[in-house]
Amino acid sequence: MEHDELKKYIHDVPDFPKPGIVFKDIAPLLASAKARTAAVDLLLKEVENLKIDTVVGIESRGFLLGTLLADRLGAKFVMVRKPGKLPGDLERMPYQLEYGYDTLEIQEHAIAKGEKVLIHDDVLATGGTVSAAADLVEKVGGEVVALNFLMELSFLNGRKKIKSHKVLPLIKF
Ligand code: 5GP
Repeated sequence: MEHDELKKYIHDVPDFPKPGIVFKDIAPLLASAKARTAAVDLLLKEVENLKIDTVVGIESRGFLLGTLLADRLGAKFVMVRKPGKLPGDLERMPYQLEYGYDTLEIQEHAIAKGEKVLIHDDVLATGGTVSAAADLVEKVGGEVVALNFLMELSFLNGRKKIKSHKVLPLIKF
């Protein structure tokens, strides 16, 4: 299965989560074993030569294919989560939303100094979330080697916020 065919497994949902927003729903892609495997295969192609030690998945849809990617790479998997979900000693990174702020957290000792990290999420939209996740990984000593996504919503210009990193989206809208 190629990129264009995979697009059929991502459905537009108008007015979600708010009126005027068209949400890209990845549930059909996750539901299909064929589409899921194809997506993981294509994502892997771009990163298998990067000597990744650790895949970091962003809550919560980044956990889904993120763990499958880590499995196939023989890499460690680490979660970056919303506040209040992770136990133990944490590092925190606040980031700006359209209105207000949110925070991401990681366990302080989840990544060793110099580990090569691939950050995965389902969608690159405005870039705020992944940019905070990358800052967090660097704060605990990891080296962010690449950021990969199922899809990039190019019209939101998320790349502006993450200029210095290699960005690898599977599908562009
Ligand atoms: P950003 O911070 O880049 O604006 O937003 C990215 C985050 O919001 C990702 O964690 C992603 O899961 C979620 N997100 C934003 N828009 C969409 C969308 O249309 N579909 C899905 N599945 N997730 C979205």
